[in-house]
Amino acid sequence: MGVPTLGCHCAVCDSTDPNDKRTRPSLLLSYGEGNVVIDTTPDFRFQAMRARIDRLDAVLFTHGHADHILGLDDIRPYNLKQRAAVPIYASRETLATLRRQFAYIFEEGPSESSLPLVDLREIAGPFDLFGRTITPIPAMHGSQPVLGFRVGGAAYLTDFSKVPESSKDMLRGLDHFILDALRYVPHPTHSNVEQSLALVGELKPKHAWFTHICHDLGHAQTNARLPENVRLSYDGLELEAAL
Ligand SMILES: [Zn+2]
Ligand SMILES: [Zn+2]
Ligand SMILES: [Zn+2]
Repeated sequence: MGVPTLGCHCAVCDSTDPNDKRTRPSLLLSYGEGNVVIDTTPDFRFQAMRARIDRLDAVLFTHGHADHILGLDDIRPYNLKQRAAVPIYASRETLATLRRQFAYIFEEGPSESSLPLVDLREIAGPFDLFGRTITPIPAMHGSQPVLGFRVGGAAYLTDFSKVPESSKDMLRGLDHFILDALRYVPHPTHSNVEQSLALVGELKPKHAWFTHICHDLGHAQTNARLPENVRLSYDGLELEAAL
């Protein structure tokens, strides 16, 4: 929902710490000539301005929930500037959700206004993207499948409640592991702080960064309680990793 959460005046929502201002979860993966965005959130336009993204070469989707896809329409300026469709990589289920939620993009016949130009590509296993291998990491978000992504020594896995053993094997030896940790209280479809700390203890990345954090977790107060190699991520956080 973002922090501050609309209508809420808890200590975190009313905090003056800039790290307590959280837009919806997304990540820019930048290497070589490629600018790849993971998820186009409802805040995508604002996030792309803030990160000064001048070109967009691909989008990867983790799953089809509203907080991860609703900014897709705002890729249009990149279509116009680059005179090309943007490749979209997602699972078969997520592509079906995109076709349904953005039906106007896929309607036959001419449109009176500009539409996002997308080139849908189904993820069926590891794939090459601008000279690097992207490894999809399947996990479960309640009863819904989601994908995390690993590139070299870094992995991003949000919106999960269970990680199968076969996926854990793909998440070892990481320098940076960015993972869901919604709050302290258990949630049916998200990992909480305790569960994510257990996963970090099992997979032993050098650094772990919690994301998809709700207003239950204040930045400074939570970091003070976490192990040194585990931090809350924050808007604008930049990490360097060997890809
Ligand atoms: Zn609040
Ligand atoms: Zn979700
Ligand atoms: Zn989400």
